[in-house]
Amino acid sequence: MKDLRVAVTAQSRRLARIWHTDFTDPVEMRRLRARVMAAAALLGLVSTAGGAAAARPATGSFWAVQAAIVTYLLCLIAWTRRGPRAGDTEFLLMILVSHVFGMVSVVVGIGRGQVSVTALSLVSVALMGGVFCGRRRDVVVQALFGSAMIALSGMLGGGGPHWPQEVSTGAFDLIAVSAVVRLLRDMAVAAVQRAKRGEVTDPLTGLANRRGLEQQGARSWSTRARERAPLAVLVIDVDHFKRVNDTQGHAAGDDILRRLADLIAANMRHEDDVTVRLGGEEFFVLCAVTPGEAVQIAERLREQVAAELAPVTVSIGVHETFPGADDPLPDSLWTAVDVADRALYVAKNGGRNRVVLALPA
Ligand code: GH3
Ligand code: MG
Ligand code: MG
Repeated sequence: MKDLRVAVTAQSRRLARIWHTDFTDPVEMRRLRARVMAAAALLGLVSTAGGAAAARPATGSFWAVQAAIVTYLLCLIAWTRRGPRAGDTEFLLMILVSHVFGMVSVVVGIGRGQVSVTALSLVSVALMGGVFCGRRRDVVVQALFGSAMIALSGMLGGGGPHWPQEVSTGAFDLIAVSAVVRLLRDMAVAAVQRAKRGEVTDPLTGLANRRGLEQQGARSWSTRARERAPLAVLVIDVDHFKRVNDTQGHAAGDDILRRLADLIAANMRHEDDVTVRLGGEEFFVLCAVTPGEAVQIAERLREQVAAELAPVTVSIGVHETFPGADDPLPDSLWTAVDVADRALYVAKNGGRNRVVLALPA
């Protein structure tokens, strides 16, 4: 008894872990795929065995549903083997096939007075909608509700003499398959989101990358142009960063870059601010400012770095500009960055650990 409880607890923990999989972790993803495949294979076996146990001449529609479920599982296995990709043809095929089988079984089931099988088919079609659109909790509720409906219709006499088997295997299939499908759907969504985020994000620091700068920067530029308010460009470069790498190692260098990125991000408050790392040890900030404020912001940041990342210091080139509504983008953005970059070189030549404001052209 105690063994059973231990086994059940371990199993539930494992299930809970699947539910909370970190989709960004490749090791966890591989483990999850292996589990999903094992579960799918097991389900296929159980469905087929359940179908066989309930076999009798009048269960054509029941077999149709079983076949649909096995098809689902085969597609799922193929899909998981290749890794989740949203809009995969297998996935669409899976839905299509199941719906065709569902409709066939509805027709056959009604013809033979097998309401439980008919209900199962209808509910599974409805459930798929929930699986793809609803929240996880809704899917579970829907699956339970569907199973209760099938049981009820069986009890009311529509299901023929073997309805308990039909109901139990049907309900089991329904819940298990919908859980697996939902899991895969979430994996696909997470993968797509991750890919989208990766397109505009620097992996080391989580700040925007070049594409992110151009996208978000263009938005800030236009907003500030509309508001007739200035936008500041800060170019922040770590002083003698090569020495940090040489003396403390590359990993420590990376850590400094991450901490610096956090400091920069923490200093930016306005929703139009954009913080960027294009690679290397140089950062850019587009900063919504009031006239004359940019140097103060840069100076505050420089002091914080000197205090919190000591002995590391940064030099900052600052350019404050009034964006125009008709400025070509992203060209104007890069021109402003170049101006700030020239100020940065003045700061470097002036002895580093300082802020220099670009002079008006
Ligand atoms: P300066 O004060 O003139 O800017 O000197 P510096 O040494 O910081 O400048 P330099 O451009 O000569 O060297 C930059 C160094 O930054 C070289 C490279 O090894 C290091 N670096 C660039 N990207 C990364 C990174 O992602 N991680 C780490 N750890 N180091 C990096
Ligand atoms: Mg440097
Ligand atoms: Mg540099």
